[in-house]
Amino acid sequence: MSGSAIVIGGGIGGLAAALGLRRIGWGATVLERTAELGEIGAGMSQSPNALRALEELGVAEQARAAGVPFHGVFNLRAPSGDYITRALPGGASPLLGFHRADLHRVLMDAVPAQWVRTGAEVTAIRQSGGEVTVSCGDEELRADLVVAADGVRSTVRRLLWPEAPGPRFWGNTIWRGIAKAEGIEGSMTLGRGQYFLVMPVGRGRVYWALGAHAGRPAVRYDDELAEVRRRARDWHDPIPRLLDATAPEAVLHHDITDLGPLDSYARGRVVLLGDAAHAMHPDMAQGAAQSLEDAVVLAAALAEAGDIPAALSRYDEQRRPRTQTIVKQARTKGRGSTSSNAVSYYLRTLTLRMVPSSRWPGLAARALAPVWDWTPPRLPR
Ligand SMILES: Cc1cc2nc3c(=O)[nH]c(=O)nc-3n(C[C@H](O)[C@H](O)[C@H](O)COP(=O)(O)OP(=O)(O)OC[C@H]3O[C@@H](n4cnc5c(N)ncnc54)[C@H](O)[C@@H]3O)c2cc1C
Repeated sequence: MSGSAIVIGGGIGGLAAALGLRRIGWGATVLERTAELGEIGAGMSQSPNALRALEELGVAEQARAAGVPFHGVFNLRAPSGDYITRALPGGASPLLGFHRADLHRVLMDAVPAQWVRTGAEVTAIRQSGGEVTVSCGDEELRADLVVAADGVRSTVRRLLWPEAPGPRFWGNTIWRGIAKAEGIEGSMTLGRGQYFLVMPVGRGRVYWALGAHAGRPAVRYDDELAEVRRRARDWHDPIPRLLDATAPEAVLHHDITDLGPLDSYARGRVVLLGDAAHAMHPDMAQGAAQSLEDAVVLAAALAEAGDIPAALSRYDEQRRPRTQTIVKQARTKGRGSTSSNAVSYYLRTLTLRMVPSSRWPGLAARALAPVWDWTPPRLPR
């Protein structure tokens, strides 16, 4: 089956969806509301399942070239700098760290430029017969299928799933920045009620994030970098050094939210993908990874099924249970990692210290196997 699609949103999910459609011989128009296509200045890691999805989308090689092996999950530290567990010298890592803009660019470069329209905000959507119409400025655009990859505050989700609650805050907030620095190793420092992530992302840039418990959402500071410094005062090197090497105006501060389960990711010929379907806590580093998986599964379903409703029902069957499970796991992990309870912090670090460093990579891979071991459906070459 072939056809034409409108993809709403030009983030990682939307571009991956467009790429998947391209792989199966469909045409697509990507509508992105911002004036310029680009990703915010922060970092992210990608796991083996995401790399397999990128492989199927035909851009794994470019993604590997843009990423940097990330050992942070094997270098757990206490605020004093003491290693709770340490990556083995020369050890491989299943994870790659990226500047988000670099991963976004890999996808963007693979999508035909004429498919993408910026400054194009979708405000309404309606379906009749075998067609979907979206309103975008003064224009109405029609397609056989609409893929809504418009993020956690999805307009399409609000319009077509009006009964579904919006983003939910569970008590986590996060500051992120990019520092100019060389020779820094990836690490994760576990404090009580907060953690500090350090991730080299190549070309002399290091992504950092301070995740913390927050009693209420929307608390903002005049000087966000100063607030990070205050929270991580006395924490080990290179944390103060990275904060000194960060432009204060480029520090991002967001509250973490996720989206509750839906009874279907499809309504008629409109399908949700990425954060619009299943926004999740970042603590399993799976939000974008799952959007890449979505894109491959959607393309495979469209290539194989006899018609669009059958394809969307196959996509929904395969994606909803998996992503909704990960949303729940990520929330539990996120709340645990910023728990300020002294006893749970003590027990957590004590348990981690009991694991010999040499056993960490194997244990992590085993614990995360249900997520990391995902095998993509094959897209036609
Ligand atoms: C702190 C943090 C750390 C993270 N770390 C990781 C990680 O390490 N690994 C990982 O895999 N994931 C991570 N994630 C998750 C990841 O960032 C998201 O899951 C992913 O970016 C979602 O992509 P998306 O394309 O679905 O949505 P978005 O990136 O939100 O893109 C949606 C796009 O749609 C556009 N849009 C919205 N409404 C409209 C409209 N009406 N019309 C047209 N365009 C519209 C927006 O402008 C935007 O460009 C992290 C998230 C956070 C918050």
